[in-house]
Amino acid sequence: MKKLTTSILLYIGVLSTGTAYADVDFKLEKLSDNLHVLYGQGGNIAISTGEDGIYIVDDQFAKLSDDIKAQISKLKAGSPEFVINTHHHGDHTGGNENFANAGSHVIAHHNVYNRLKEKHGEGSKYLPVISFSKDMTLHFNNEHAQLWHYHNAHTDGDAVIFYEQANAVHLGDIFFNLKSLPFVDVDSGGSLDGVINAVTDVLSKVDDNTKIIPGHGPVTNKAGLEAYLVLLKQARELMTNAMADNKSLDQVLALKPLTSLALTYSNWLPEERVTKLFYLSLKNTSKSN
Ligand SMILES: [Zn+2]
Repeated sequence: MKKLTTSILLYIGVLSTGTAYADVDFKLEKLSDNLHVLYGQGGNIAISTGEDGIYIVDDQFAKLSDDIKAQISKLKAGSPEFVINTHHHGDHTGGNENFANAGSHVIAHHNVYNRLKEKHGEGSKYLPVISFSKDMTLHFNNEHAQLWHYHNAHTDGDAVIFYEQANAVHLGDIFFNLKSLPFVDVDSGGSLDGVINAVTDVLSKVDDNTKIIPGHGPVTNKAGLEAYLVLLKQARELMTNAMADNKSLDQVLALKPLTSLALTYSNWLPEERVTKLFYLSLKNTSKSN
């Protein structure tokens, strides 16, 4: 009976996965005449269209590239001239090769180049053809898009894109706008304090009318990002209190320090995993101080 139940569950699992990939619910949201956000499966895509052509920020998964191109063509015909990656994760860079083959030039931080090279090999079309260290500006479509690197936040290769004309910002996965705590990729150089510092700095550069694009979840405004910062700081305080007296990871996990925030968690990022990543991140911080 147990065996039968397992195989039924596996079968349902395969079915639901198949359905999800075949039927992604894409949605375009207009932020300005020249800037749209495309929601699909994976990281949110920003699409700039104008006199010079098209460029996008992040490209979700390879299998969605044709669908994404179809969505872009609703706004303007042609292939993107540039694809900017906010960081190296596969749900933001999975389409790089397909877009590069269609003529796009991929732009990202040096560390994204290095991590994609590790994964796909030297010369792969997944790799950026332009990489930068601290910042760069893209003067295109009557817009001056500033790409700022924030070190050791979600990963070690994060870029935030500030659109001057559209008064919008794309934060990549530094910001999960899902009323939940973010994934801090400690194994890829991410840190909770880096996320807090990045969000604090972005908040100092925006105004009440700025449209804030998160890596995941809906577009929001300055108040939405401020609420996220409050949540991050609350979580940090709960963690450091629980970690007092040099407690071990197991001791801290047993205390369930984040439970009092009463948040919801996704299957791939349960409360225990967030607690563990925050613990490891804060341990690293205290070591380096
Ligand atoms: Zn990510």
